[in-house]
Amino acid sequence: MEIVLSTFNPGKIREIKSYLGDRGLKISTLLDLPYPISLKEARNSYQENAIHKAQTVANITGKITLADDSGLEVDALGGKPGVESARFGGEGLTDSQRNQLLLEYLKDIPWAQRTARYICLIAIVKPGREPFLCQGVCEGLIAFKGQGDKGFGYDPIFYLPEYSKTMAELDLTLKNHISHRAKALTQAKQILLGLGLP
Ligand code: IMP
Repeated sequence: MEIVLSTFNPGKIREIKSYLGDRGLKISTLLDLPYPISLKEARNSYQENAIHKAQTVANITGKITLADDSGLEVDALGGKPGVESARFGGEGLTDSQRNQLLLEYLKDIPWAQRTARYICLIAIVKPGREPFLCQGVCEGLIAFKGQGDKGFGYDPIFYLPEYSKTMAELDLTLKNHISHRAKALTQAKQILLGLGLP
C-alpha cells in the first residue's frame, strides 16, 4: 500500500514518516516525483490549503494523498503569521531569519503576553472520494531567544512551559507525541486504517 505526502518540506516529511512509517506502508513525497509540480496556496485558510494540496496531487498521481497545512499563531500579533507562516517576512528568508524577525516584533512584549499556538490541518484524499480533515493544536509561548537545533521552522523559539524547553530541544519521539501535527496524525491514522491501509 502506498500514500503520497503532498509536501516538499523536509521537516514535515521527517515527522510524518516517523509517525506513520513503521506500518508496512510505502510513503512517497513530492521530492520523489519524476516530474515537477507546483502547488499554489490560496492562503485563505489552513483547511482550504490542505484540501487543495491533497486534491491536486491525488488527481495527478491517482494515489491516496495526505497534505499538511500548518502555521504559528501569535496572540500579540493578532494571530499572525498564521497561514502565512512559511512566508513571514518575505519568501527569501531562512527559518533563522524569520525567527529573528518575529523576536524583533515581540521584543517589548512580556512573558504573559507571548502566548502562541501551532495549528495543523491534515487533509486526506482518496481519488474519487470527498476529503477527510484532521486538526491538531499545540499551545506554547514565544521565547525571548532561540534555543535548540532539532525540528524545523519556528521550533527554536516555540517554548513549552510544561517541559521548560523549546520545541527544537525535544527529541523527535517526544515532538511526535505532543505537537499539533502529532494530534492531527492520530486522527489521520484512524482514517487511513479505515481506507484499508496497514
Ligand atoms: P505550510 O503548511 O507549507 O504553509 O507551512 C507551514 C509553516 O508553518 C512552516 O513552513 C513553518 O514555518 C511553520 N510550521 C508549521 N509546523 C511547524 C512545526 O512543527 N515547527 C516549526 N514550524 C512549523
